[in-house]
Amino acid sequence: MTDFETIIYERPADKVARIVLNRVDARNAQSMRMLYEVNEAFDIAAQDDSISVIILSANGPHFSAGHDLRDAEGAQLVAEHQRVGTWCGFGCDGAQSQMAIEKEMYIGLSERWRNIPKPTIAAVQGKVIAGGLMLVWPCDLVVAAQDALFQDNTVSMGVAGAEFFNHPFEVGVRKAKEMLFTSDFLSAREARELGMVNHVVPLDELESFTLSMAARIAEKPLFALRLAKESVNVAQDNQGRVNAMQTSFAYHQLCHSHNQQVHGMLIDPSFMDRTFAKKSADPQRKG
Ligand code: ZN
Repeated sequence: MTDFETIIYERPADKVARIVLNRVDARNAQSMRMLYEVNEAFDIAAQDDSISVIILSANGPHFSAGHDLRDAEGAQLVAEHQRVGTWCGFGCDGAQSQMAIEKEMYIGLSERWRNIPKPTIAAVQGKVIAGGLMLVWPCDLVVAAQDALFQDNTVSMGVAGAEFFNHPFEVGVRKAKEMLFTSDFLSAREARELGMVNHVVPLDELESFTLSMAARIAEKPLFALRLAKESVNVAQDNQGRVNAMQTSFAYHQLCHSHNQQVHGMLIDPSFMDRTFAKKSADPQRKG
């Protein structure tokens, strides 16, 4: 079995694999290493015919704080890693390099995981921020602890939504707009009412509930599970999901280019000022 640094790969029950995010000190922020390791673990589970269901969960109080903006080795790692997509232009001038990295690491990996031909279940607690959604949304089912909170705050950073832009299909058109315009958190209960989450359970039951659901699904014939998943995914794609995703990804890159030209960085730096001002005004607030 591969040794992972940022995740744990385990088999908690017959026919069930579990990938556990394990960067607790960083609130499971996604370094490029973590994303490649999650991808490798998904591949191991997908290619293992003795596995029928894959759980994605997280150690610590928070599922994921999003992309790790302090990932020192990130760009270098992507440049040297064996790539999973076919895009090119890594290390080139202008907008090319950022687009290449995000095409590979963000929309590329999330799309890949969404299309794994086995049922996947996300088990989520605490905060799930921006890039965190790109780990949860590709999964087929979502079980949330009562304390789970979901947020896409990218518009506050001067970007038109996270790279894997599935918002309208997850929460509906109006709530997608509200979520993006306000950067407000969605509670687990709201997310369930909107259809984004299947079940909300007490935090101390999250692991057992998810595992028992996975075990029940794993008893079914895998070929039928696979084709049922494909059927629903094709139905969703015929509602325009792929075209919408490509358009919003292009707009996302346009925002990065705009911010780079105007502010000299990929996001609008006033986001940091506003975030720190809020925190110092309310010392109780946990960021
Ligand atoms: Zn981006």
